[in-house]
Amino acid sequence: MNTENLAKNSILQKIQELRNKINYHNYLYYVKDEPEIPDKEFDALFRELKTLEEQNPELITPDSPTQRIGAAPSEKFRQVKHKYPLYSLDNANNDEELLEWYNRIRKTFPEPQKIEFVCELKIDGLAVTLSYENGKFTRGATRGDGKTGEDISTNLKTINSIPLTLFTPENEHVPRHIEARGEIFMPISSFEKLNEKRREKSEPEFANPRNAGSGSVRQLDSKITRERDLDIFIYAGVFEGDTHPQTHWKSLQLLSKLGFKTNPYIKLCESIKEVIDYCNRWDEERFELDYATDGVVVKVNDFSKQEELGFTSRSPRWAVAYKFPPERALTEIKYIEPSVGRTGAVTPIAHLEPVKLAGTIVKRASLHNADEIKRLDIRIGDKVWVKKAAEIIPKVIAVDLKKRPPGTEPFEYPDKCPECGTPLERKADEVAFHCPNSSGCPAQVRGRIEYWVSREAMDIDWVGESMVRQMVENGLIKDPSDLYSLTVDDILALERMGEKSASNIINAIRQSKDRPFNRLINALGIKYVGRETADLLSRHFFSIEELKNADYQTLSAIDGIGDKVAEGIVNFFNNSCVNEMIEKLRNAGVKLYGERPEIAGEQPLGNKSFVLTGTLKNMTRNQAGDIIKRLGGKVSSSVSKKTDYLLVGEDPGSKLDKAVKLNVKILNEDEFLNMTST
Ligand code: NAD
Repeated sequence: MNTENLAKNSILQKIQELRNKINYHNYLYYVKDEPEIPDKEFDALFRELKTLEEQNPELITPDSPTQRIGAAPSEKFRQVKHKYPLYSLDNANNDEELLEWYNRIRKTFPEPQKIEFVCELKIDGLAVTLSYENGKFTRGATRGDGKTGEDISTNLKTINSIPLTLFTPENEHVPRHIEARGEIFMPISSFEKLNEKRREKSEPEFANPRNAGSGSVRQLDSKITRERDLDIFIYAGVFEGDTHPQTHWKSLQLLSKLGFKTNPYIKLCESIKEVIDYCNRWDEERFELDYATDGVVVKVNDFSKQEELGFTSRSPRWAVAYKFPPERALTEIKYIEPSVGRTGAVTPIAHLEPVKLAGTIVKRASLHNADEIKRLDIRIGDKVWVKKAAEIIPKVIAVDLKKRPPGTEPFEYPDKCPECGTPLERKADEVAFHCPNSSGCPAQVRGRIEYWVSREAMDIDWVGESMVRQMVENGLIKDPSDLYSLTVDDILALERMGEKSASNIINAIRQSKDRPFNRLINALGIKYVGRETADLLSRHFFSIEELKNADYQTLSAIDGIGDKVAEGIVNFFNNSCVNEMIEKLRNAGVKLYGERPEIAGEQPLGNKSFVLTGTLKNMTRNQAGDIIKRLGGKVSSSVSKKTDYLLVGEDPGSKLDKAVKLNVKILNEDEFLNMTST
């Protein structure tokens, strides 16, 4: 292969890698409402891919994320083909990029032609389209991939600011078919209340108002949507019929007269200077609002000009999203508190002078570990810059040394557990200090019980963080198994407790006895075993006895179980306190086993491990995965020596190369269908 080909090949590989990453994060963001990385990090990946594709246009494929919008709709909802596609927006990250966009438009409409713009706050929520026939709401759907969305009409009907019947304004013609486009959002104050409630119940918190809003409206149970405080701003309309407005500004006014809620801060601007002033003004003032906005959308006002400018495959050329710069805030460290988790790991937490950041009040930040405190030389009394990491846990990123008050001392990391006084330990290969007093340290006891009752584990309603604290402090429980011997009278003895709540708690505990085996494994809180590993273990072991008796070799031979996890499991069951607890659970009637699958003869793919890559013609990858699991096989996300088959669709990724290298059997879709049609 010559050098040019080699270079092309490595660019192609890089492009493929970026596409895989972006597709994965798109899925987490749009389908699961659970992003793993901050938007800025996602945007950087996206920009890198776009630049590489611009430099190598022959490598652009129609399925590249730069050519597509959002992610395919989730299969859990009925799908809706959009009558008029919904688009994404190109971004401008600063004034210069905004001017570049303006100059491109000026090429089509040179000076002295007048161009008007409409500036709108870019609401950080979930895009929806609402259809109305003769003034009546008929259907509401998410944007999805722009062509097909999810039918969420029932949920949308629970939002009071969405009109079900439109007004008929005097002297205005109401078009026969209207599609109103807008952004569903959860007010910041409601988001904070919701998270507070979830914290109390030890339920996982939402990362930010956007995920909370999107997660609430994409619920299968519309009762949950109704309980959440959701709102909408409508930012565009598609009107069908003989007369409709000539400009975007007028269409927003018509939408408002018809009864839609439009944003009060929209502005008609006559020059790009006015647009830039608007963007800069809102970069500062956005924190006064009770909803999250991540930028300003600038649109050419005149519909005929919009038509002339047209669209790319992904976004209109007549609009751009000016993104606000990332948020940081300067605040003071009041004190540093080492906090002990359920596994005994100690995490230093900085308590801050409350400061507003990304629309929420931040009072605490994680300092990760002793090394990080040393690296940044963080001291009590310091003024520090905080930033939202993944918009979830704020992070201290730097100390403003110029503002350091006199007389501060480097922070001395405690050498004893702040909860039980046991000397802390640090293993050679770990960054965190540990409290080794696993059974006696109250923080670890509480942590383990909180984890047991949490939604991800045994899902015990009514028992949250503060209830667990009271129960432990009053000596009622020492480990999760003690929950099952509590009586209504025990609970009634706790502070501010009424008959009704006490019996709710006892009922909720009783109901948790029959939880599926994978949940029970997760609830045990074995080191390195989270929900996914617990699921995997529950497919290999069908009772706590089987799991307990599995040795290191058996465990590490399972695809998906690494050395550390296997070691964690073996160590866990080597502890006498754990075994006593398991016996108490058994005596209390807690289900300690799973369902053994049907006889092996009916499991044609019994124990065969599959990995899937590329696009399939006849089904989605999820559907193929379901077939495999139904026939007794397993699906893994990456190819390893333990993989039996790689199912390959169109445009396979790097998994194919790896499978070839490891001699894994490759199946095409037809071979797979032959193999599975029984
Ligand atoms: P976008 O943010 O680029 O812009 C398009 C969307 O803006 C529209 O669909 C609409 O919903 C919304 N919008 C809000 N107010 C509007 C208004 N007044 N007028 C018109 N549109 C308005 O949207 P996108 O294409 O959905 O996604 C890209 C964004 O999502 C980026 O900011 C990216 O960082 C983020 N993202 C993050 C991750 C992650 O893993 N963190 C993954 C995927 C996407």
